[in-house]
Amino acid sequence: MLARARPSWRLFRDGERKNRKKNRLKFLIRAIGEKELFRRLDVELERVLAERGSPLRDEMAELVRIVSRARAAAPGAGHAARRRSILPLEANQRRPQTQDGYHVATIKLPLGDASAEQLRSIAELSRRFGNGTVRATNQQNLVLRWVPSMRLYALYRSLVEIGLGEADALCITDVVSCPGTDYCSLAITKSMGVAARIREYLEESSTRQDVDDVIARLGRFEIKISGCPNACGQHQVADIGMTGSWSPARTASSGRTTRCVSAAAAAKRRASERG
Ligand code: SF4
Repeated sequence: MLARARPSWRLFRDGERKNRKKNRLKFLIRAIGEKELFRRLDVELERVLAERGSPLRDEMAELVRIVSRARAAAPGAGHAARRRSILPLEANQRRPQTQDGYHVATIKLPLGDASAEQLRSIAELSRRFGNGTVRATNQQNLVLRWVPSMRLYALYRSLVEIGLGEADALCITDVVSCPGTDYCSLAITKSMGVAARIREYLEESSTRQDVDDVIARLGRFEIKISGCPNACGQHQVADIGMTGSWSPARTASSGRTTRCVSAAAAAKRRASERG
């Protein structure tokens, strides 16, 4: 797998270097065509295998060994009879695993942010409550697997202690944003600022009961924001998607604006979920 990832990365270096806004794989594919892309990938793959095939295979085998060795704690006796004790970890942040007695727990990272100290604590919690591994999601949250159902409440308490006990992952307050002008040199607008403002409006200007009522009505609901049309915030697949763009009508404010785009993709997803 690592050997196959490298050719794509190497090929990407052949992208547009003069106009950095067009330095995206999609523009390269448009320029050279799909057939040529796969030909170049095959050539690069052969080169990578010849140069580094063996070390990359060893590296991958080591990673697989680490993950498969990670042991989960025993689920604990009587878990089925005491399910009520897991209620504080919100329903949308826990999911039963196929293996009886275990849950997958989602840790909501507000705006995808976590301090180094919080990340160290999460690593420790993953060893204490899960199997020592943590997965990142494209919703900018983290997931712990193999959490014994009986220990969800203790996990929730520990998350509250490190300031990450916020509920309602994947709901309207779980806003996803790309870095925007805060960190990205291609950005047009301050997407993280918009996301923070939306959260502030939804959470701080409302009572907890209001937020709960809105969440109960909407269920899973995603707001995603990208600082430019490159769409790293995946705004096209949100219920409400926003993207930074230039607006000639707004010359007084340098023309930068964040506009709402169609939420058709999300509407389709929701329709298919409803069956
Ligand atoms: S979508 Fe966001 S992260 Fe991606 S290039 Fe644009 S500003 Fe940068």
